Amino acid sequence: MGKIEDLKVINGEGYQLTTLDKAIGLARANSVWPLPFATSCCGIEFMATMGSTYDMSRFGMERMSFTPRQADLLIVAGTISKKLGPVLKQIYEQMAEPKWVLSVGACASSGGIFDTYSVLQGIDRIIPVDVYVPGCPPRPEQIIDGVINIHKLVKLESMRRRYSDEYKDLLKTYQIDITDERDK
Ligand code: SF4
Repeated sequence: MGKIEDLKVINGEGYQLTTLDKAIGLARANSVWPLPFATSCCGIEFMATMGSTYDMSRFGMERMSFTPRQADLLIVAGTISKKLGPVLKQIYEQMAEPKWVLSVGACASSGGIFDTYSVLQGIDRIIPVDVYVPGCPPRPEQIIDGVINIHKLVKLESMRRRYSDEYKDLLKTYQIDITDERDK
């Protein structure tokens, strides 16, 4: 029998016990619905990641969502101009909680080589980012590594972090209001 302190799982003959929190985290991590927000070359690399060679469906992620209300992972891949920033933020706000953000490539993460007046110098200036993938462009293996790191977060966070004061304060710094029904 495993120790609940170590594994949060109790194994016995014919049964296994765990917490609801852990079970939900596991289910969520293996059924993420991504919304690809791809604007340029990194988007092409993401398309390669979805192809048969790398095959994102191995991670339960073959279903791309092009509607934010049915997505929980925003994948931003490519150069984001300042003009496009409010559109990206609106899409993020339309996604239901809990949600995560993967920033793919140098442009999305920091503006990349485009240190110009028109390019946003990193999407974390307008929305919170959970995982950054470096590279110009990152290879599909790197994007998959970023996705696996998102899965780890999803498993650990499960239900609680999204209702924590820390998370709400983080969103406040982005002028994003997260109203918890239980606060009313
Ligand atoms: S990081 Fe490089 S490959 Fe990706 S969008 Fe920017 S310029 Fe293109």
